[in-house]
Amino acid sequence: MSYIADEKLENTTIVRKYRELLSVLYHKTNEEQRKQIRKAFVLATNAHNGVRRKSGEPYIYHPIAVAMICCKEMNLGATSVVCALLHDVVEDTEYTLDDMRDMFGDTVAEIIDGLTKIEDLVLDDRSSSIQAENFRKIFLSMSKDVRVILIKLADRLHNMRTLESMPPEKQLKIASETSYFYVPFAHRLGLYSIKSELEDYAMRYTDPAEYYNIAAKMKETEEERATLIAEFVKPIQESLLANGIHAEVSSRTKSIYSINQKMLRKKVNFEDIYDIFAVRFVFDSPADEEFEICWKIYRIVCMLYQTNPKRDRNFLTHPKANGYQSLHVTAMSKAGRWVEVQIRSRRMDEIAEKGLAAHYKYKEDGEATEDADVNDRLEDWLSKTREILNSKDSDALDFLNEVKLNLGLKEVYVFTPKGDMKSLPAGASVLDMAYALHTNLGDHCIGAKVNYNIVPVDKVLENGDQVEIITSKKQTPKPEWLELVRTPKARRSIRDFLKTEQTRLSSESQKESDENAELRKFQQKVSEEISNKSLDELIDEQLTATPNVFMLDEKYDIIKYVLADCCNPIPGDQVVGFQVADDKIVVHQTNCPHAIEQMSKFGNRIIKTKWRKGQHIAFLSGIRISGFDRKGMIKEIIDVVSSQMDLNIRSLNIETKNNVFNGTLMLYIQSVRALTDLIHSLQKIDRIEKVERIGYDV
Ligand code: MN
Repeated sequence: MSYIADEKLENTTIVRKYRELLSVLYHKTNEEQRKQIRKAFVLATNAHNGVRRKSGEPYIYHPIAVAMICCKEMNLGATSVVCALLHDVVEDTEYTLDDMRDMFGDTVAEIIDGLTKIEDLVLDDRSSSIQAENFRKIFLSMSKDVRVILIKLADRLHNMRTLESMPPEKQLKIASETSYFYVPFAHRLGLYSIKSELEDYAMRYTDPAEYYNIAAKMKETEEERATLIAEFVKPIQESLLANGIHAEVSSRTKSIYSINQKMLRKKVNFEDIYDIFAVRFVFDSPADEEFEICWKIYRIVCMLYQTNPKRDRNFLTHPKANGYQSLHVTAMSKAGRWVEVQIRSRRMDEIAEKGLAAHYKYKEDGEATEDADVNDRLEDWLSKTREILNSKDSDALDFLNEVKLNLGLKEVYVFTPKGDMKSLPAGASVLDMAYALHTNLGDHCIGAKVNYNIVPVDKVLENGDQVEIITSKKQTPKPEWLELVRTPKARRSIRDFLKTEQTRLSSESQKESDENAELRKFQQKVSEEISNKSLDELIDEQLTATPNVFMLDEKYDIIKYVLADCCNPIPGDQVVGFQVADDKIVVHQTNCPHAIEQMSKFGNRIIKTKWRKGQHIAFLSGIRISGFDRKGMIKEIIDVVSSQMDLNIRSLNIETKNNVFNGTLMLYIQSVRALTDLIHSLQKIDRIEKVERIGYDV
């Protein structure tokens, strides 16, 4: 795509874009604020004058677009727009921060300072992607004023929208930063539509094949979907009108990224999921009539169509922790497809689309927030973030996890496999869920599948988890379970059982521990590296102690690598692999100065390699096995692995806890097929529930 510069046309475009910006802002600014915006616009236009973006367009298009995203898509006010217009001025031109302070005051200067700092951290060319330590700094700079991160997100969103003109290696770097850092952040801030747009853009560059594959299929089915929705909606609209309700209808298709995630998660084809249709009715109403109108629309849908009450979701009286409110009902269309109908007021819709940011009124608006509750939550979140930042002992990576955990509010909403929602107190475990469903399920619970992963009974549930309780007739409540539950119901049921069945319990637990001792003895024989650590700790340890495990890609049967021509490694040399592109690994001698330099810069792309069978290179790879423990299981695993003669095992770690069995197997492999075969053979073992490769994203 080539861009032809036409300055005259460009100048007109700049003015037009500025006018558009002003018109969006007009109703929420006073004259003084509009003066400031104009000042910022003029300054930025002059400062960036003559500079062009990679696409060839004048640079100023970018700050204007970022300012537009801030006010139109994030509901931010005048100060943020001023900062967005100026966000690259200090970074890229002669102007200093002091100039900004003199012209626009302390607040603007502070936000711009934060933005420039983030830019330094993120775009620091010495590191190929954001390193964990940088997260802390980013949080620190944003914690002063959340607008820093919101504007940064707007900046990133515009960069993603215009990523096409970047060179391919930059595209990949920016796309992976986006999914690694900005997506979770957008999610945390509740900027859902921005989050899913970022995800889609990132996927377009990190997994183009699958992205365009799904995009093409979406296109193919577009017409069919449109017809179905139109036919489905028509009678509802007629009935709404007859009842004097004016509601806007929109149907949003699932994002490409989330379709792909669902396909991966459920191991299904596109055809099996594209029929999840959703229609949304949004109406304007006074605050005190919102619920009533929601239920009116709900009743109309139920009268017109057969609905599935099990899939009703009442987020009106039970809003999600992030503030989401809506009423959902799933109805069968005449065409025989389930359609999810979302019903909500304009206010609820704003929160759903723009998150808490939609309701965070800054002081610049000159009035306190209307929605104190939402504001409190955001403040709560910020203070928690600050709290973590000040705790010296947690290292940077842990810190990220803590933010995730600490964000949980007082309640979590979890789902049964059929989609029934249960609300549990924060900190509730699998056992709490089991007891919440049925005392019998609780009493016999041996673990669960949470989001399709095998977990033990003490696993703490998070918002949105899907939980399938797994039971065994032999299982009975243990005294230590009392420590693992939060809900009164679970505690009561466990106590009741313990009281009435004390005698039987003691004999049962005796037998259990006999079995465990036997198993442990066997494990020791098999592997020296048995660890008492949890599986997550174990994997972390393996991934950090050794260079990265190669992420395998189905597309390549034999891993592609080239031998570096700077050091020309030959069989027998100590070698290290270095991932230079999605599908390409360059192998250097470990003492090659070139390799050393590369390693110091791009530590996260090192892949452990070694020579195998003369000329060939083998890559360290990992498999994770999980299931429910039984006698003889480990021996069978060893038998399967050792029967695959080609494999060279580096380590085997196994852990059993509360009857849940977890193992990691590290081995050198030369082809993806060998690994796939092994996985299939392991899957056939009785009571093994899951076998998967270890990647970064787990
Ligand atoms: Mn920028």
